[in-house]
Amino acid sequence: MNDTQNLNNNSNQNKNMNKNPHKKKQHTTLPKDHPRYDSLTYRHKIIQGMNDLVVAEAGLIAHGRGECFDYILGEKTNESAHQALKTAVAALLLAKKPVISVNGNVAALIPEQLVQLSQEINAPLEINLFYRKKGRIKAIQNYLEDAGAKKILGLDESKMVQIEELSSNRRLVDPHGIKIADVVLVPLEDGDRTEALKQLGKTVIAIDLNPLSRTSLYADITIVDNVIRTIPLMIQYAQELKDHSEERLEKLVQTFNNRRNIQNCLDLIIQYIKEQKRSLQNSKKPTMH
Ligand code: ATP
Ligand code: MG
Repeated sequence: MNDTQNLNNNSNQNKNMNKNPHKKKQHTTLPKDHPRYDSLTYRHKIIQGMNDLVVAEAGLIAHGRGECFDYILGEKTNESAHQALKTAVAALLLAKKPVISVNGNVAALIPEQLVQLSQEINAPLEINLFYRKKGRIKAIQNYLEDAGAKKILGLDESKMVQIEELSSNRRLVDPHGIKIADVVLVPLEDGDRTEALKQLGKTVIAIDLNPLSRTSLYADITIVDNVIRTIPLMIQYAQELKDHSEERLEKLVQTFNNRRNIQNCLDLIIQYIKEQKRSLQNSKKPTMH
């Protein structure tokens, strides 16, 4: 396996194979010199996650929507996102009861980094699903435990409590987690639930590549970036900010303006598209990334 990666053999998640009866094997070989190797690798993680029951079918579509925005953001973490994620880490370090909400997509994409971030900022992971299906919570639990998670919330549906602001089974949260949390990190959340969390008085930190989604607009701090890049950067910022005084962290949070942050991200998209257009007009090849 030199210039290709067999995703079936290499994937860390394949350790779960024996634990999940729904697991289907996937045989896909990607050439490492493929210009979109990284993107394809994460696509395959999502597909593998779906085969393992971790990712909902609609999760594939959500991933595609995210990829589209990533494309027109140049597939890199922009300055505004850096500022937002640094502020987010400060808010999480200042929080009394921070929680990281986990859905199928993030569990499939970056389980180890989620576990590491949870340890760095001392915030538990809570499995919180939009699309509930028998066996999905267990499948996500397996992924997270294989990645080193010791304590996971949101496992026992019979012990979950309801948040009034939402209808149906989407309103269930863990009484020891999101229910009592003051700051909630929601990578890839749905707009309705973000709004409900806001109505409950939580500080919401969202990671969402679409700066115009309802989640992005409702959140207190919106990190417009790919969760794949964001979570590792949050780990780095957590290590850097951990020793800072509360005053310094509070200053970061207080001076942050989310409207301005979202406007900056929209400006970056406009700028990126204009640059691509200009390079076409000058009959150069568009910048490859
Ligand atoms: P909303 O409900 O907030 O208005 P939506 O209905 O457009 O948003 P959902 O399917 O509810 O979208 O949520 C998925 C969101 O996650 C999308 O906005 C998509 O851009 C974003 N997303 C998908 N994959 C990633 C990723 N890897 N990193 C960051 N964001 C992502
Ligand atoms: Mg939605």
